[in-house]
Amino acid sequence: MPIYEYQCEKCGRRTSVLTMRVSERVDAACCHCGNRKLRRLMSRFATLRSEEHRLDALADPSRYSDVDEKDPKSVARMMKRIGREMGEEAQGPEFDEAIDELERGGDLDAEEASGEADDSEL
Ligand SMILES: [Zn+2]
Repeated sequence: MPIYEYQCEKCGRRTSVLTMRVSERVDAACCHCGNRKLRRLMSRFATLRSEEHRLDALADPSRYSDVDEKDPKSVARMMKRIGREMGEEAQGPEFDEAIDELERGGDLDAEEASGEADDSEL
C-alpha cells in the first residue's frame, strides 16, 4: 500500500496519507492545521518509483554506445558496470561466472551448448 508523505506549505509539518489506489490523486489536507497546500515528499512509494527510473536509465541504449558486442571483454566491462549499479540484485555466483567467462574471451551461448546442460535437463 502506497504511503504518501506531504509537507504542509503553511506550518511545515508532515502529514502521511495512506491510499488504496495508486492512480488516484490523494486529496490530502494537513493534519495539523488543515491547510490543503501540501508538497509531496519522498515516500516508500516514491522510492519504488525512483527504482524504476534507475532501471530505465540502465536500459538506455546510449549508455552502451562504447560497448563492442563482438568483444567479450567489452561486454564483461559493461556487465560489471550494470552489476555495480544494480547492487545485490545482479550479483551472485552466476553473475560472476558469466563475467569470468566473458573475460576469458568465451561465449556464453557456446558454453551452454557444449555439455554441462545435460544434468539440468534431466
Ligand atoms: Zn499545516
